[in-house]
Amino acid sequence: MENQITKLAGKNLGPTLAIFAGVHGNETAGVLALDWARDNLQVNSGTVYLVVANAEAVAAGARQINKNLNRCFLAGNDGNAYEDSRVRELMQLLDGCDALLDLHASTSDQSTPFVICEPPSFTIAKLFGVPLISTGWDAIEPGATDGYMFRAGKIGICVECYGKAELDAGVALAKESILRFLAYFGVVDYSYQPPLREPKLFCAQAAIRKQTDDFSFARTFFDFEVLAPGELIATDGAQKYFAQPGQVLLFPDAKAKIGDEVFVLGRYEEF
Ligand SMILES: [Zn+2]
Repeated sequence: MENQITKLAGKNLGPTLAIFAGVHGNETAGVLALDWARDNLQVNSGTVYLVVANAEAVAAGARQINKNLNRCFLAGNDGNAYEDSRVRELMQLLDGCDALLDLHASTSDQSTPFVICEPPSFTIAKLFGVPLISTGWDAIEPGATDGYMFRAGKIGICVECYGKAELDAGVALAKESILRFLAYFGVVDYSYQPPLREPKLFCAQAAIRKQTDDFSFARTFFDFEVLAPGELIATDGAQKYFAQPGQVLLFPDAKAKIGDEVFVLGRYEEF
């Protein structure tokens, strides 16, 4: 437990799977679900690693120690921060795994739950029963856990388990996601009612970075909001951002540092 990695091995042969929580140390729902899994999962076959990913940040109750761990999953990482040494350990573990489930939560008080993954993971992601699947992230924000698996030709799924004021719902979704993910690979026995409705599909297209201290949004925006064609989104120094038809806005964060992502644009598409 010292490195916060628990290995559960079944009696029979099977796949090697990883479940991460605490990639961001202040996202509690997944960490609590992982505690539950450690004590309650009955793994029949294969191997399951339960990983408190940014262990020091979780212990500190902070999002990160030095940097965003979910931008560090890049082959060849040779940085010196705590997250860099931790990510090298975690990438080595993932290199021996067939699939990854990574449990996150929104840092907003309330948030629609959704999945982040690339197309090879859609079939599994649709089983989780969340209303939205979002994709295209590896191209605009490389270095995330799911993107690392995608680049290796493997399954990588990140679930955003509600907001920080919705902890009970977040823990319940995180537990259910663990069970459905493991049941899909046949390593645990778990039966459930498959979702009746298909989720919506959101494709991320551009991460906009803050350029100046003179940044402001034109109004309050909500995650996954469809913008009015041509409406002013934000002003950043001399730069103005206007919405194109059908564009959707995500993760508005006026407090982002210069050079960091201040909002994301994308659109809804068909599977
Ligand atoms: Zn997160």
